[in-house]
Amino acid sequence: MGIIDTHCHLDLIEGRGENIDTILANASTTGVEALVQIATDLDSSFKNQKLYAQASGKSSIPQIYWTAGLHPGSMEFFDSIDDIFSIVRENYQKPSFLGIGETGLDYFHTSEEEEIEKQKESFRKHLDLAEELNLPVILHTRDDRSYNPEKTTAISDALEMVKSTKVSGVLHCFTYTQREALPFVDLGWFVSYSGALTFSNAKAIQEGAAHIPLANLLVETDAPFLAPVPHRGKTNQPAFVQYTLDFLAELRERECEEEQSLVKETIFANSRRFINLKNEMNSVL
Ligand SMILES: [Zn+2]
Repeated sequence: MGIIDTHCHLDLIEGRGENIDTILANASTTGVEALVQIATDLDSSFKNQKLYAQASGKSSIPQIYWTAGLHPGSMEFFDSIDDIFSIVRENYQKPSFLGIGETGLDYFHTSEEEEIEKQKESFRKHLDLAEELNLPVILHTRDDRSYNPEKTTAISDALEMVKSTKVSGVLHCFTYTQREALPFVDLGWFVSYSGALTFSNAKAIQEGAAHIPLANLLVETDAPFLAPVPHRGKTNQPAFVQYTLDFLAELRERECEEEQSLVKETIFANSRRFINLKNEMNSVL
């Protein structure tokens, strides 16, 4: 059975001095069958196209899927949204193009009203395009350093905006509890866990991961960030997704006996569904 890293940034890993061919070979050795290369701005949206073309020329394993979008932490590039959306329009029918993002709301890095309004406007535009082209959205929301029940405004604002659309997608690098996840799960969204799940201070996140329906769960690295234990603090890479998957499988199997040995294969099946979500969304039209 394979593993899929549903969210990584190969360009940012390369920016830390790593060699992409080595990173892909490591992923392949550890059973990573596919990965999703996520854009954060115009530059990376553009690069993702090229990266996919280069890798597919070498018939590389893992298979590469990719996205285009503007990260809420990149609002200084707000004016490039139209160019990013041109990349989406040119590529969205290609099998390797997965969806739009990452986009969303990040209130951890800013509390300025003007900046937050810009993030909302950007997110709204991404949702509109996703709805028009029937594409999944990769949603980033962040409120605090670790889970804090007093600080959940970014994810609740995002929910309000999502609720008024028919858009589906994934809550990427999920660092909240089941309380914040379940309204999205009811709308058919996936919930993806990164290495942050394995941190010893992540008890509230782990509690959520044990209780959200298994059919909605995914794993990711968000590499180069958030390397899971036992590599915490190092540059993350898709090969490390196995540690988060192992951790999640143990957590689920401890909590729900009937899931014994089913967790990994279900998450693999979920990841395949996630990769095909665009086609699923278009076939119900
Ligand atoms: Zn990311």
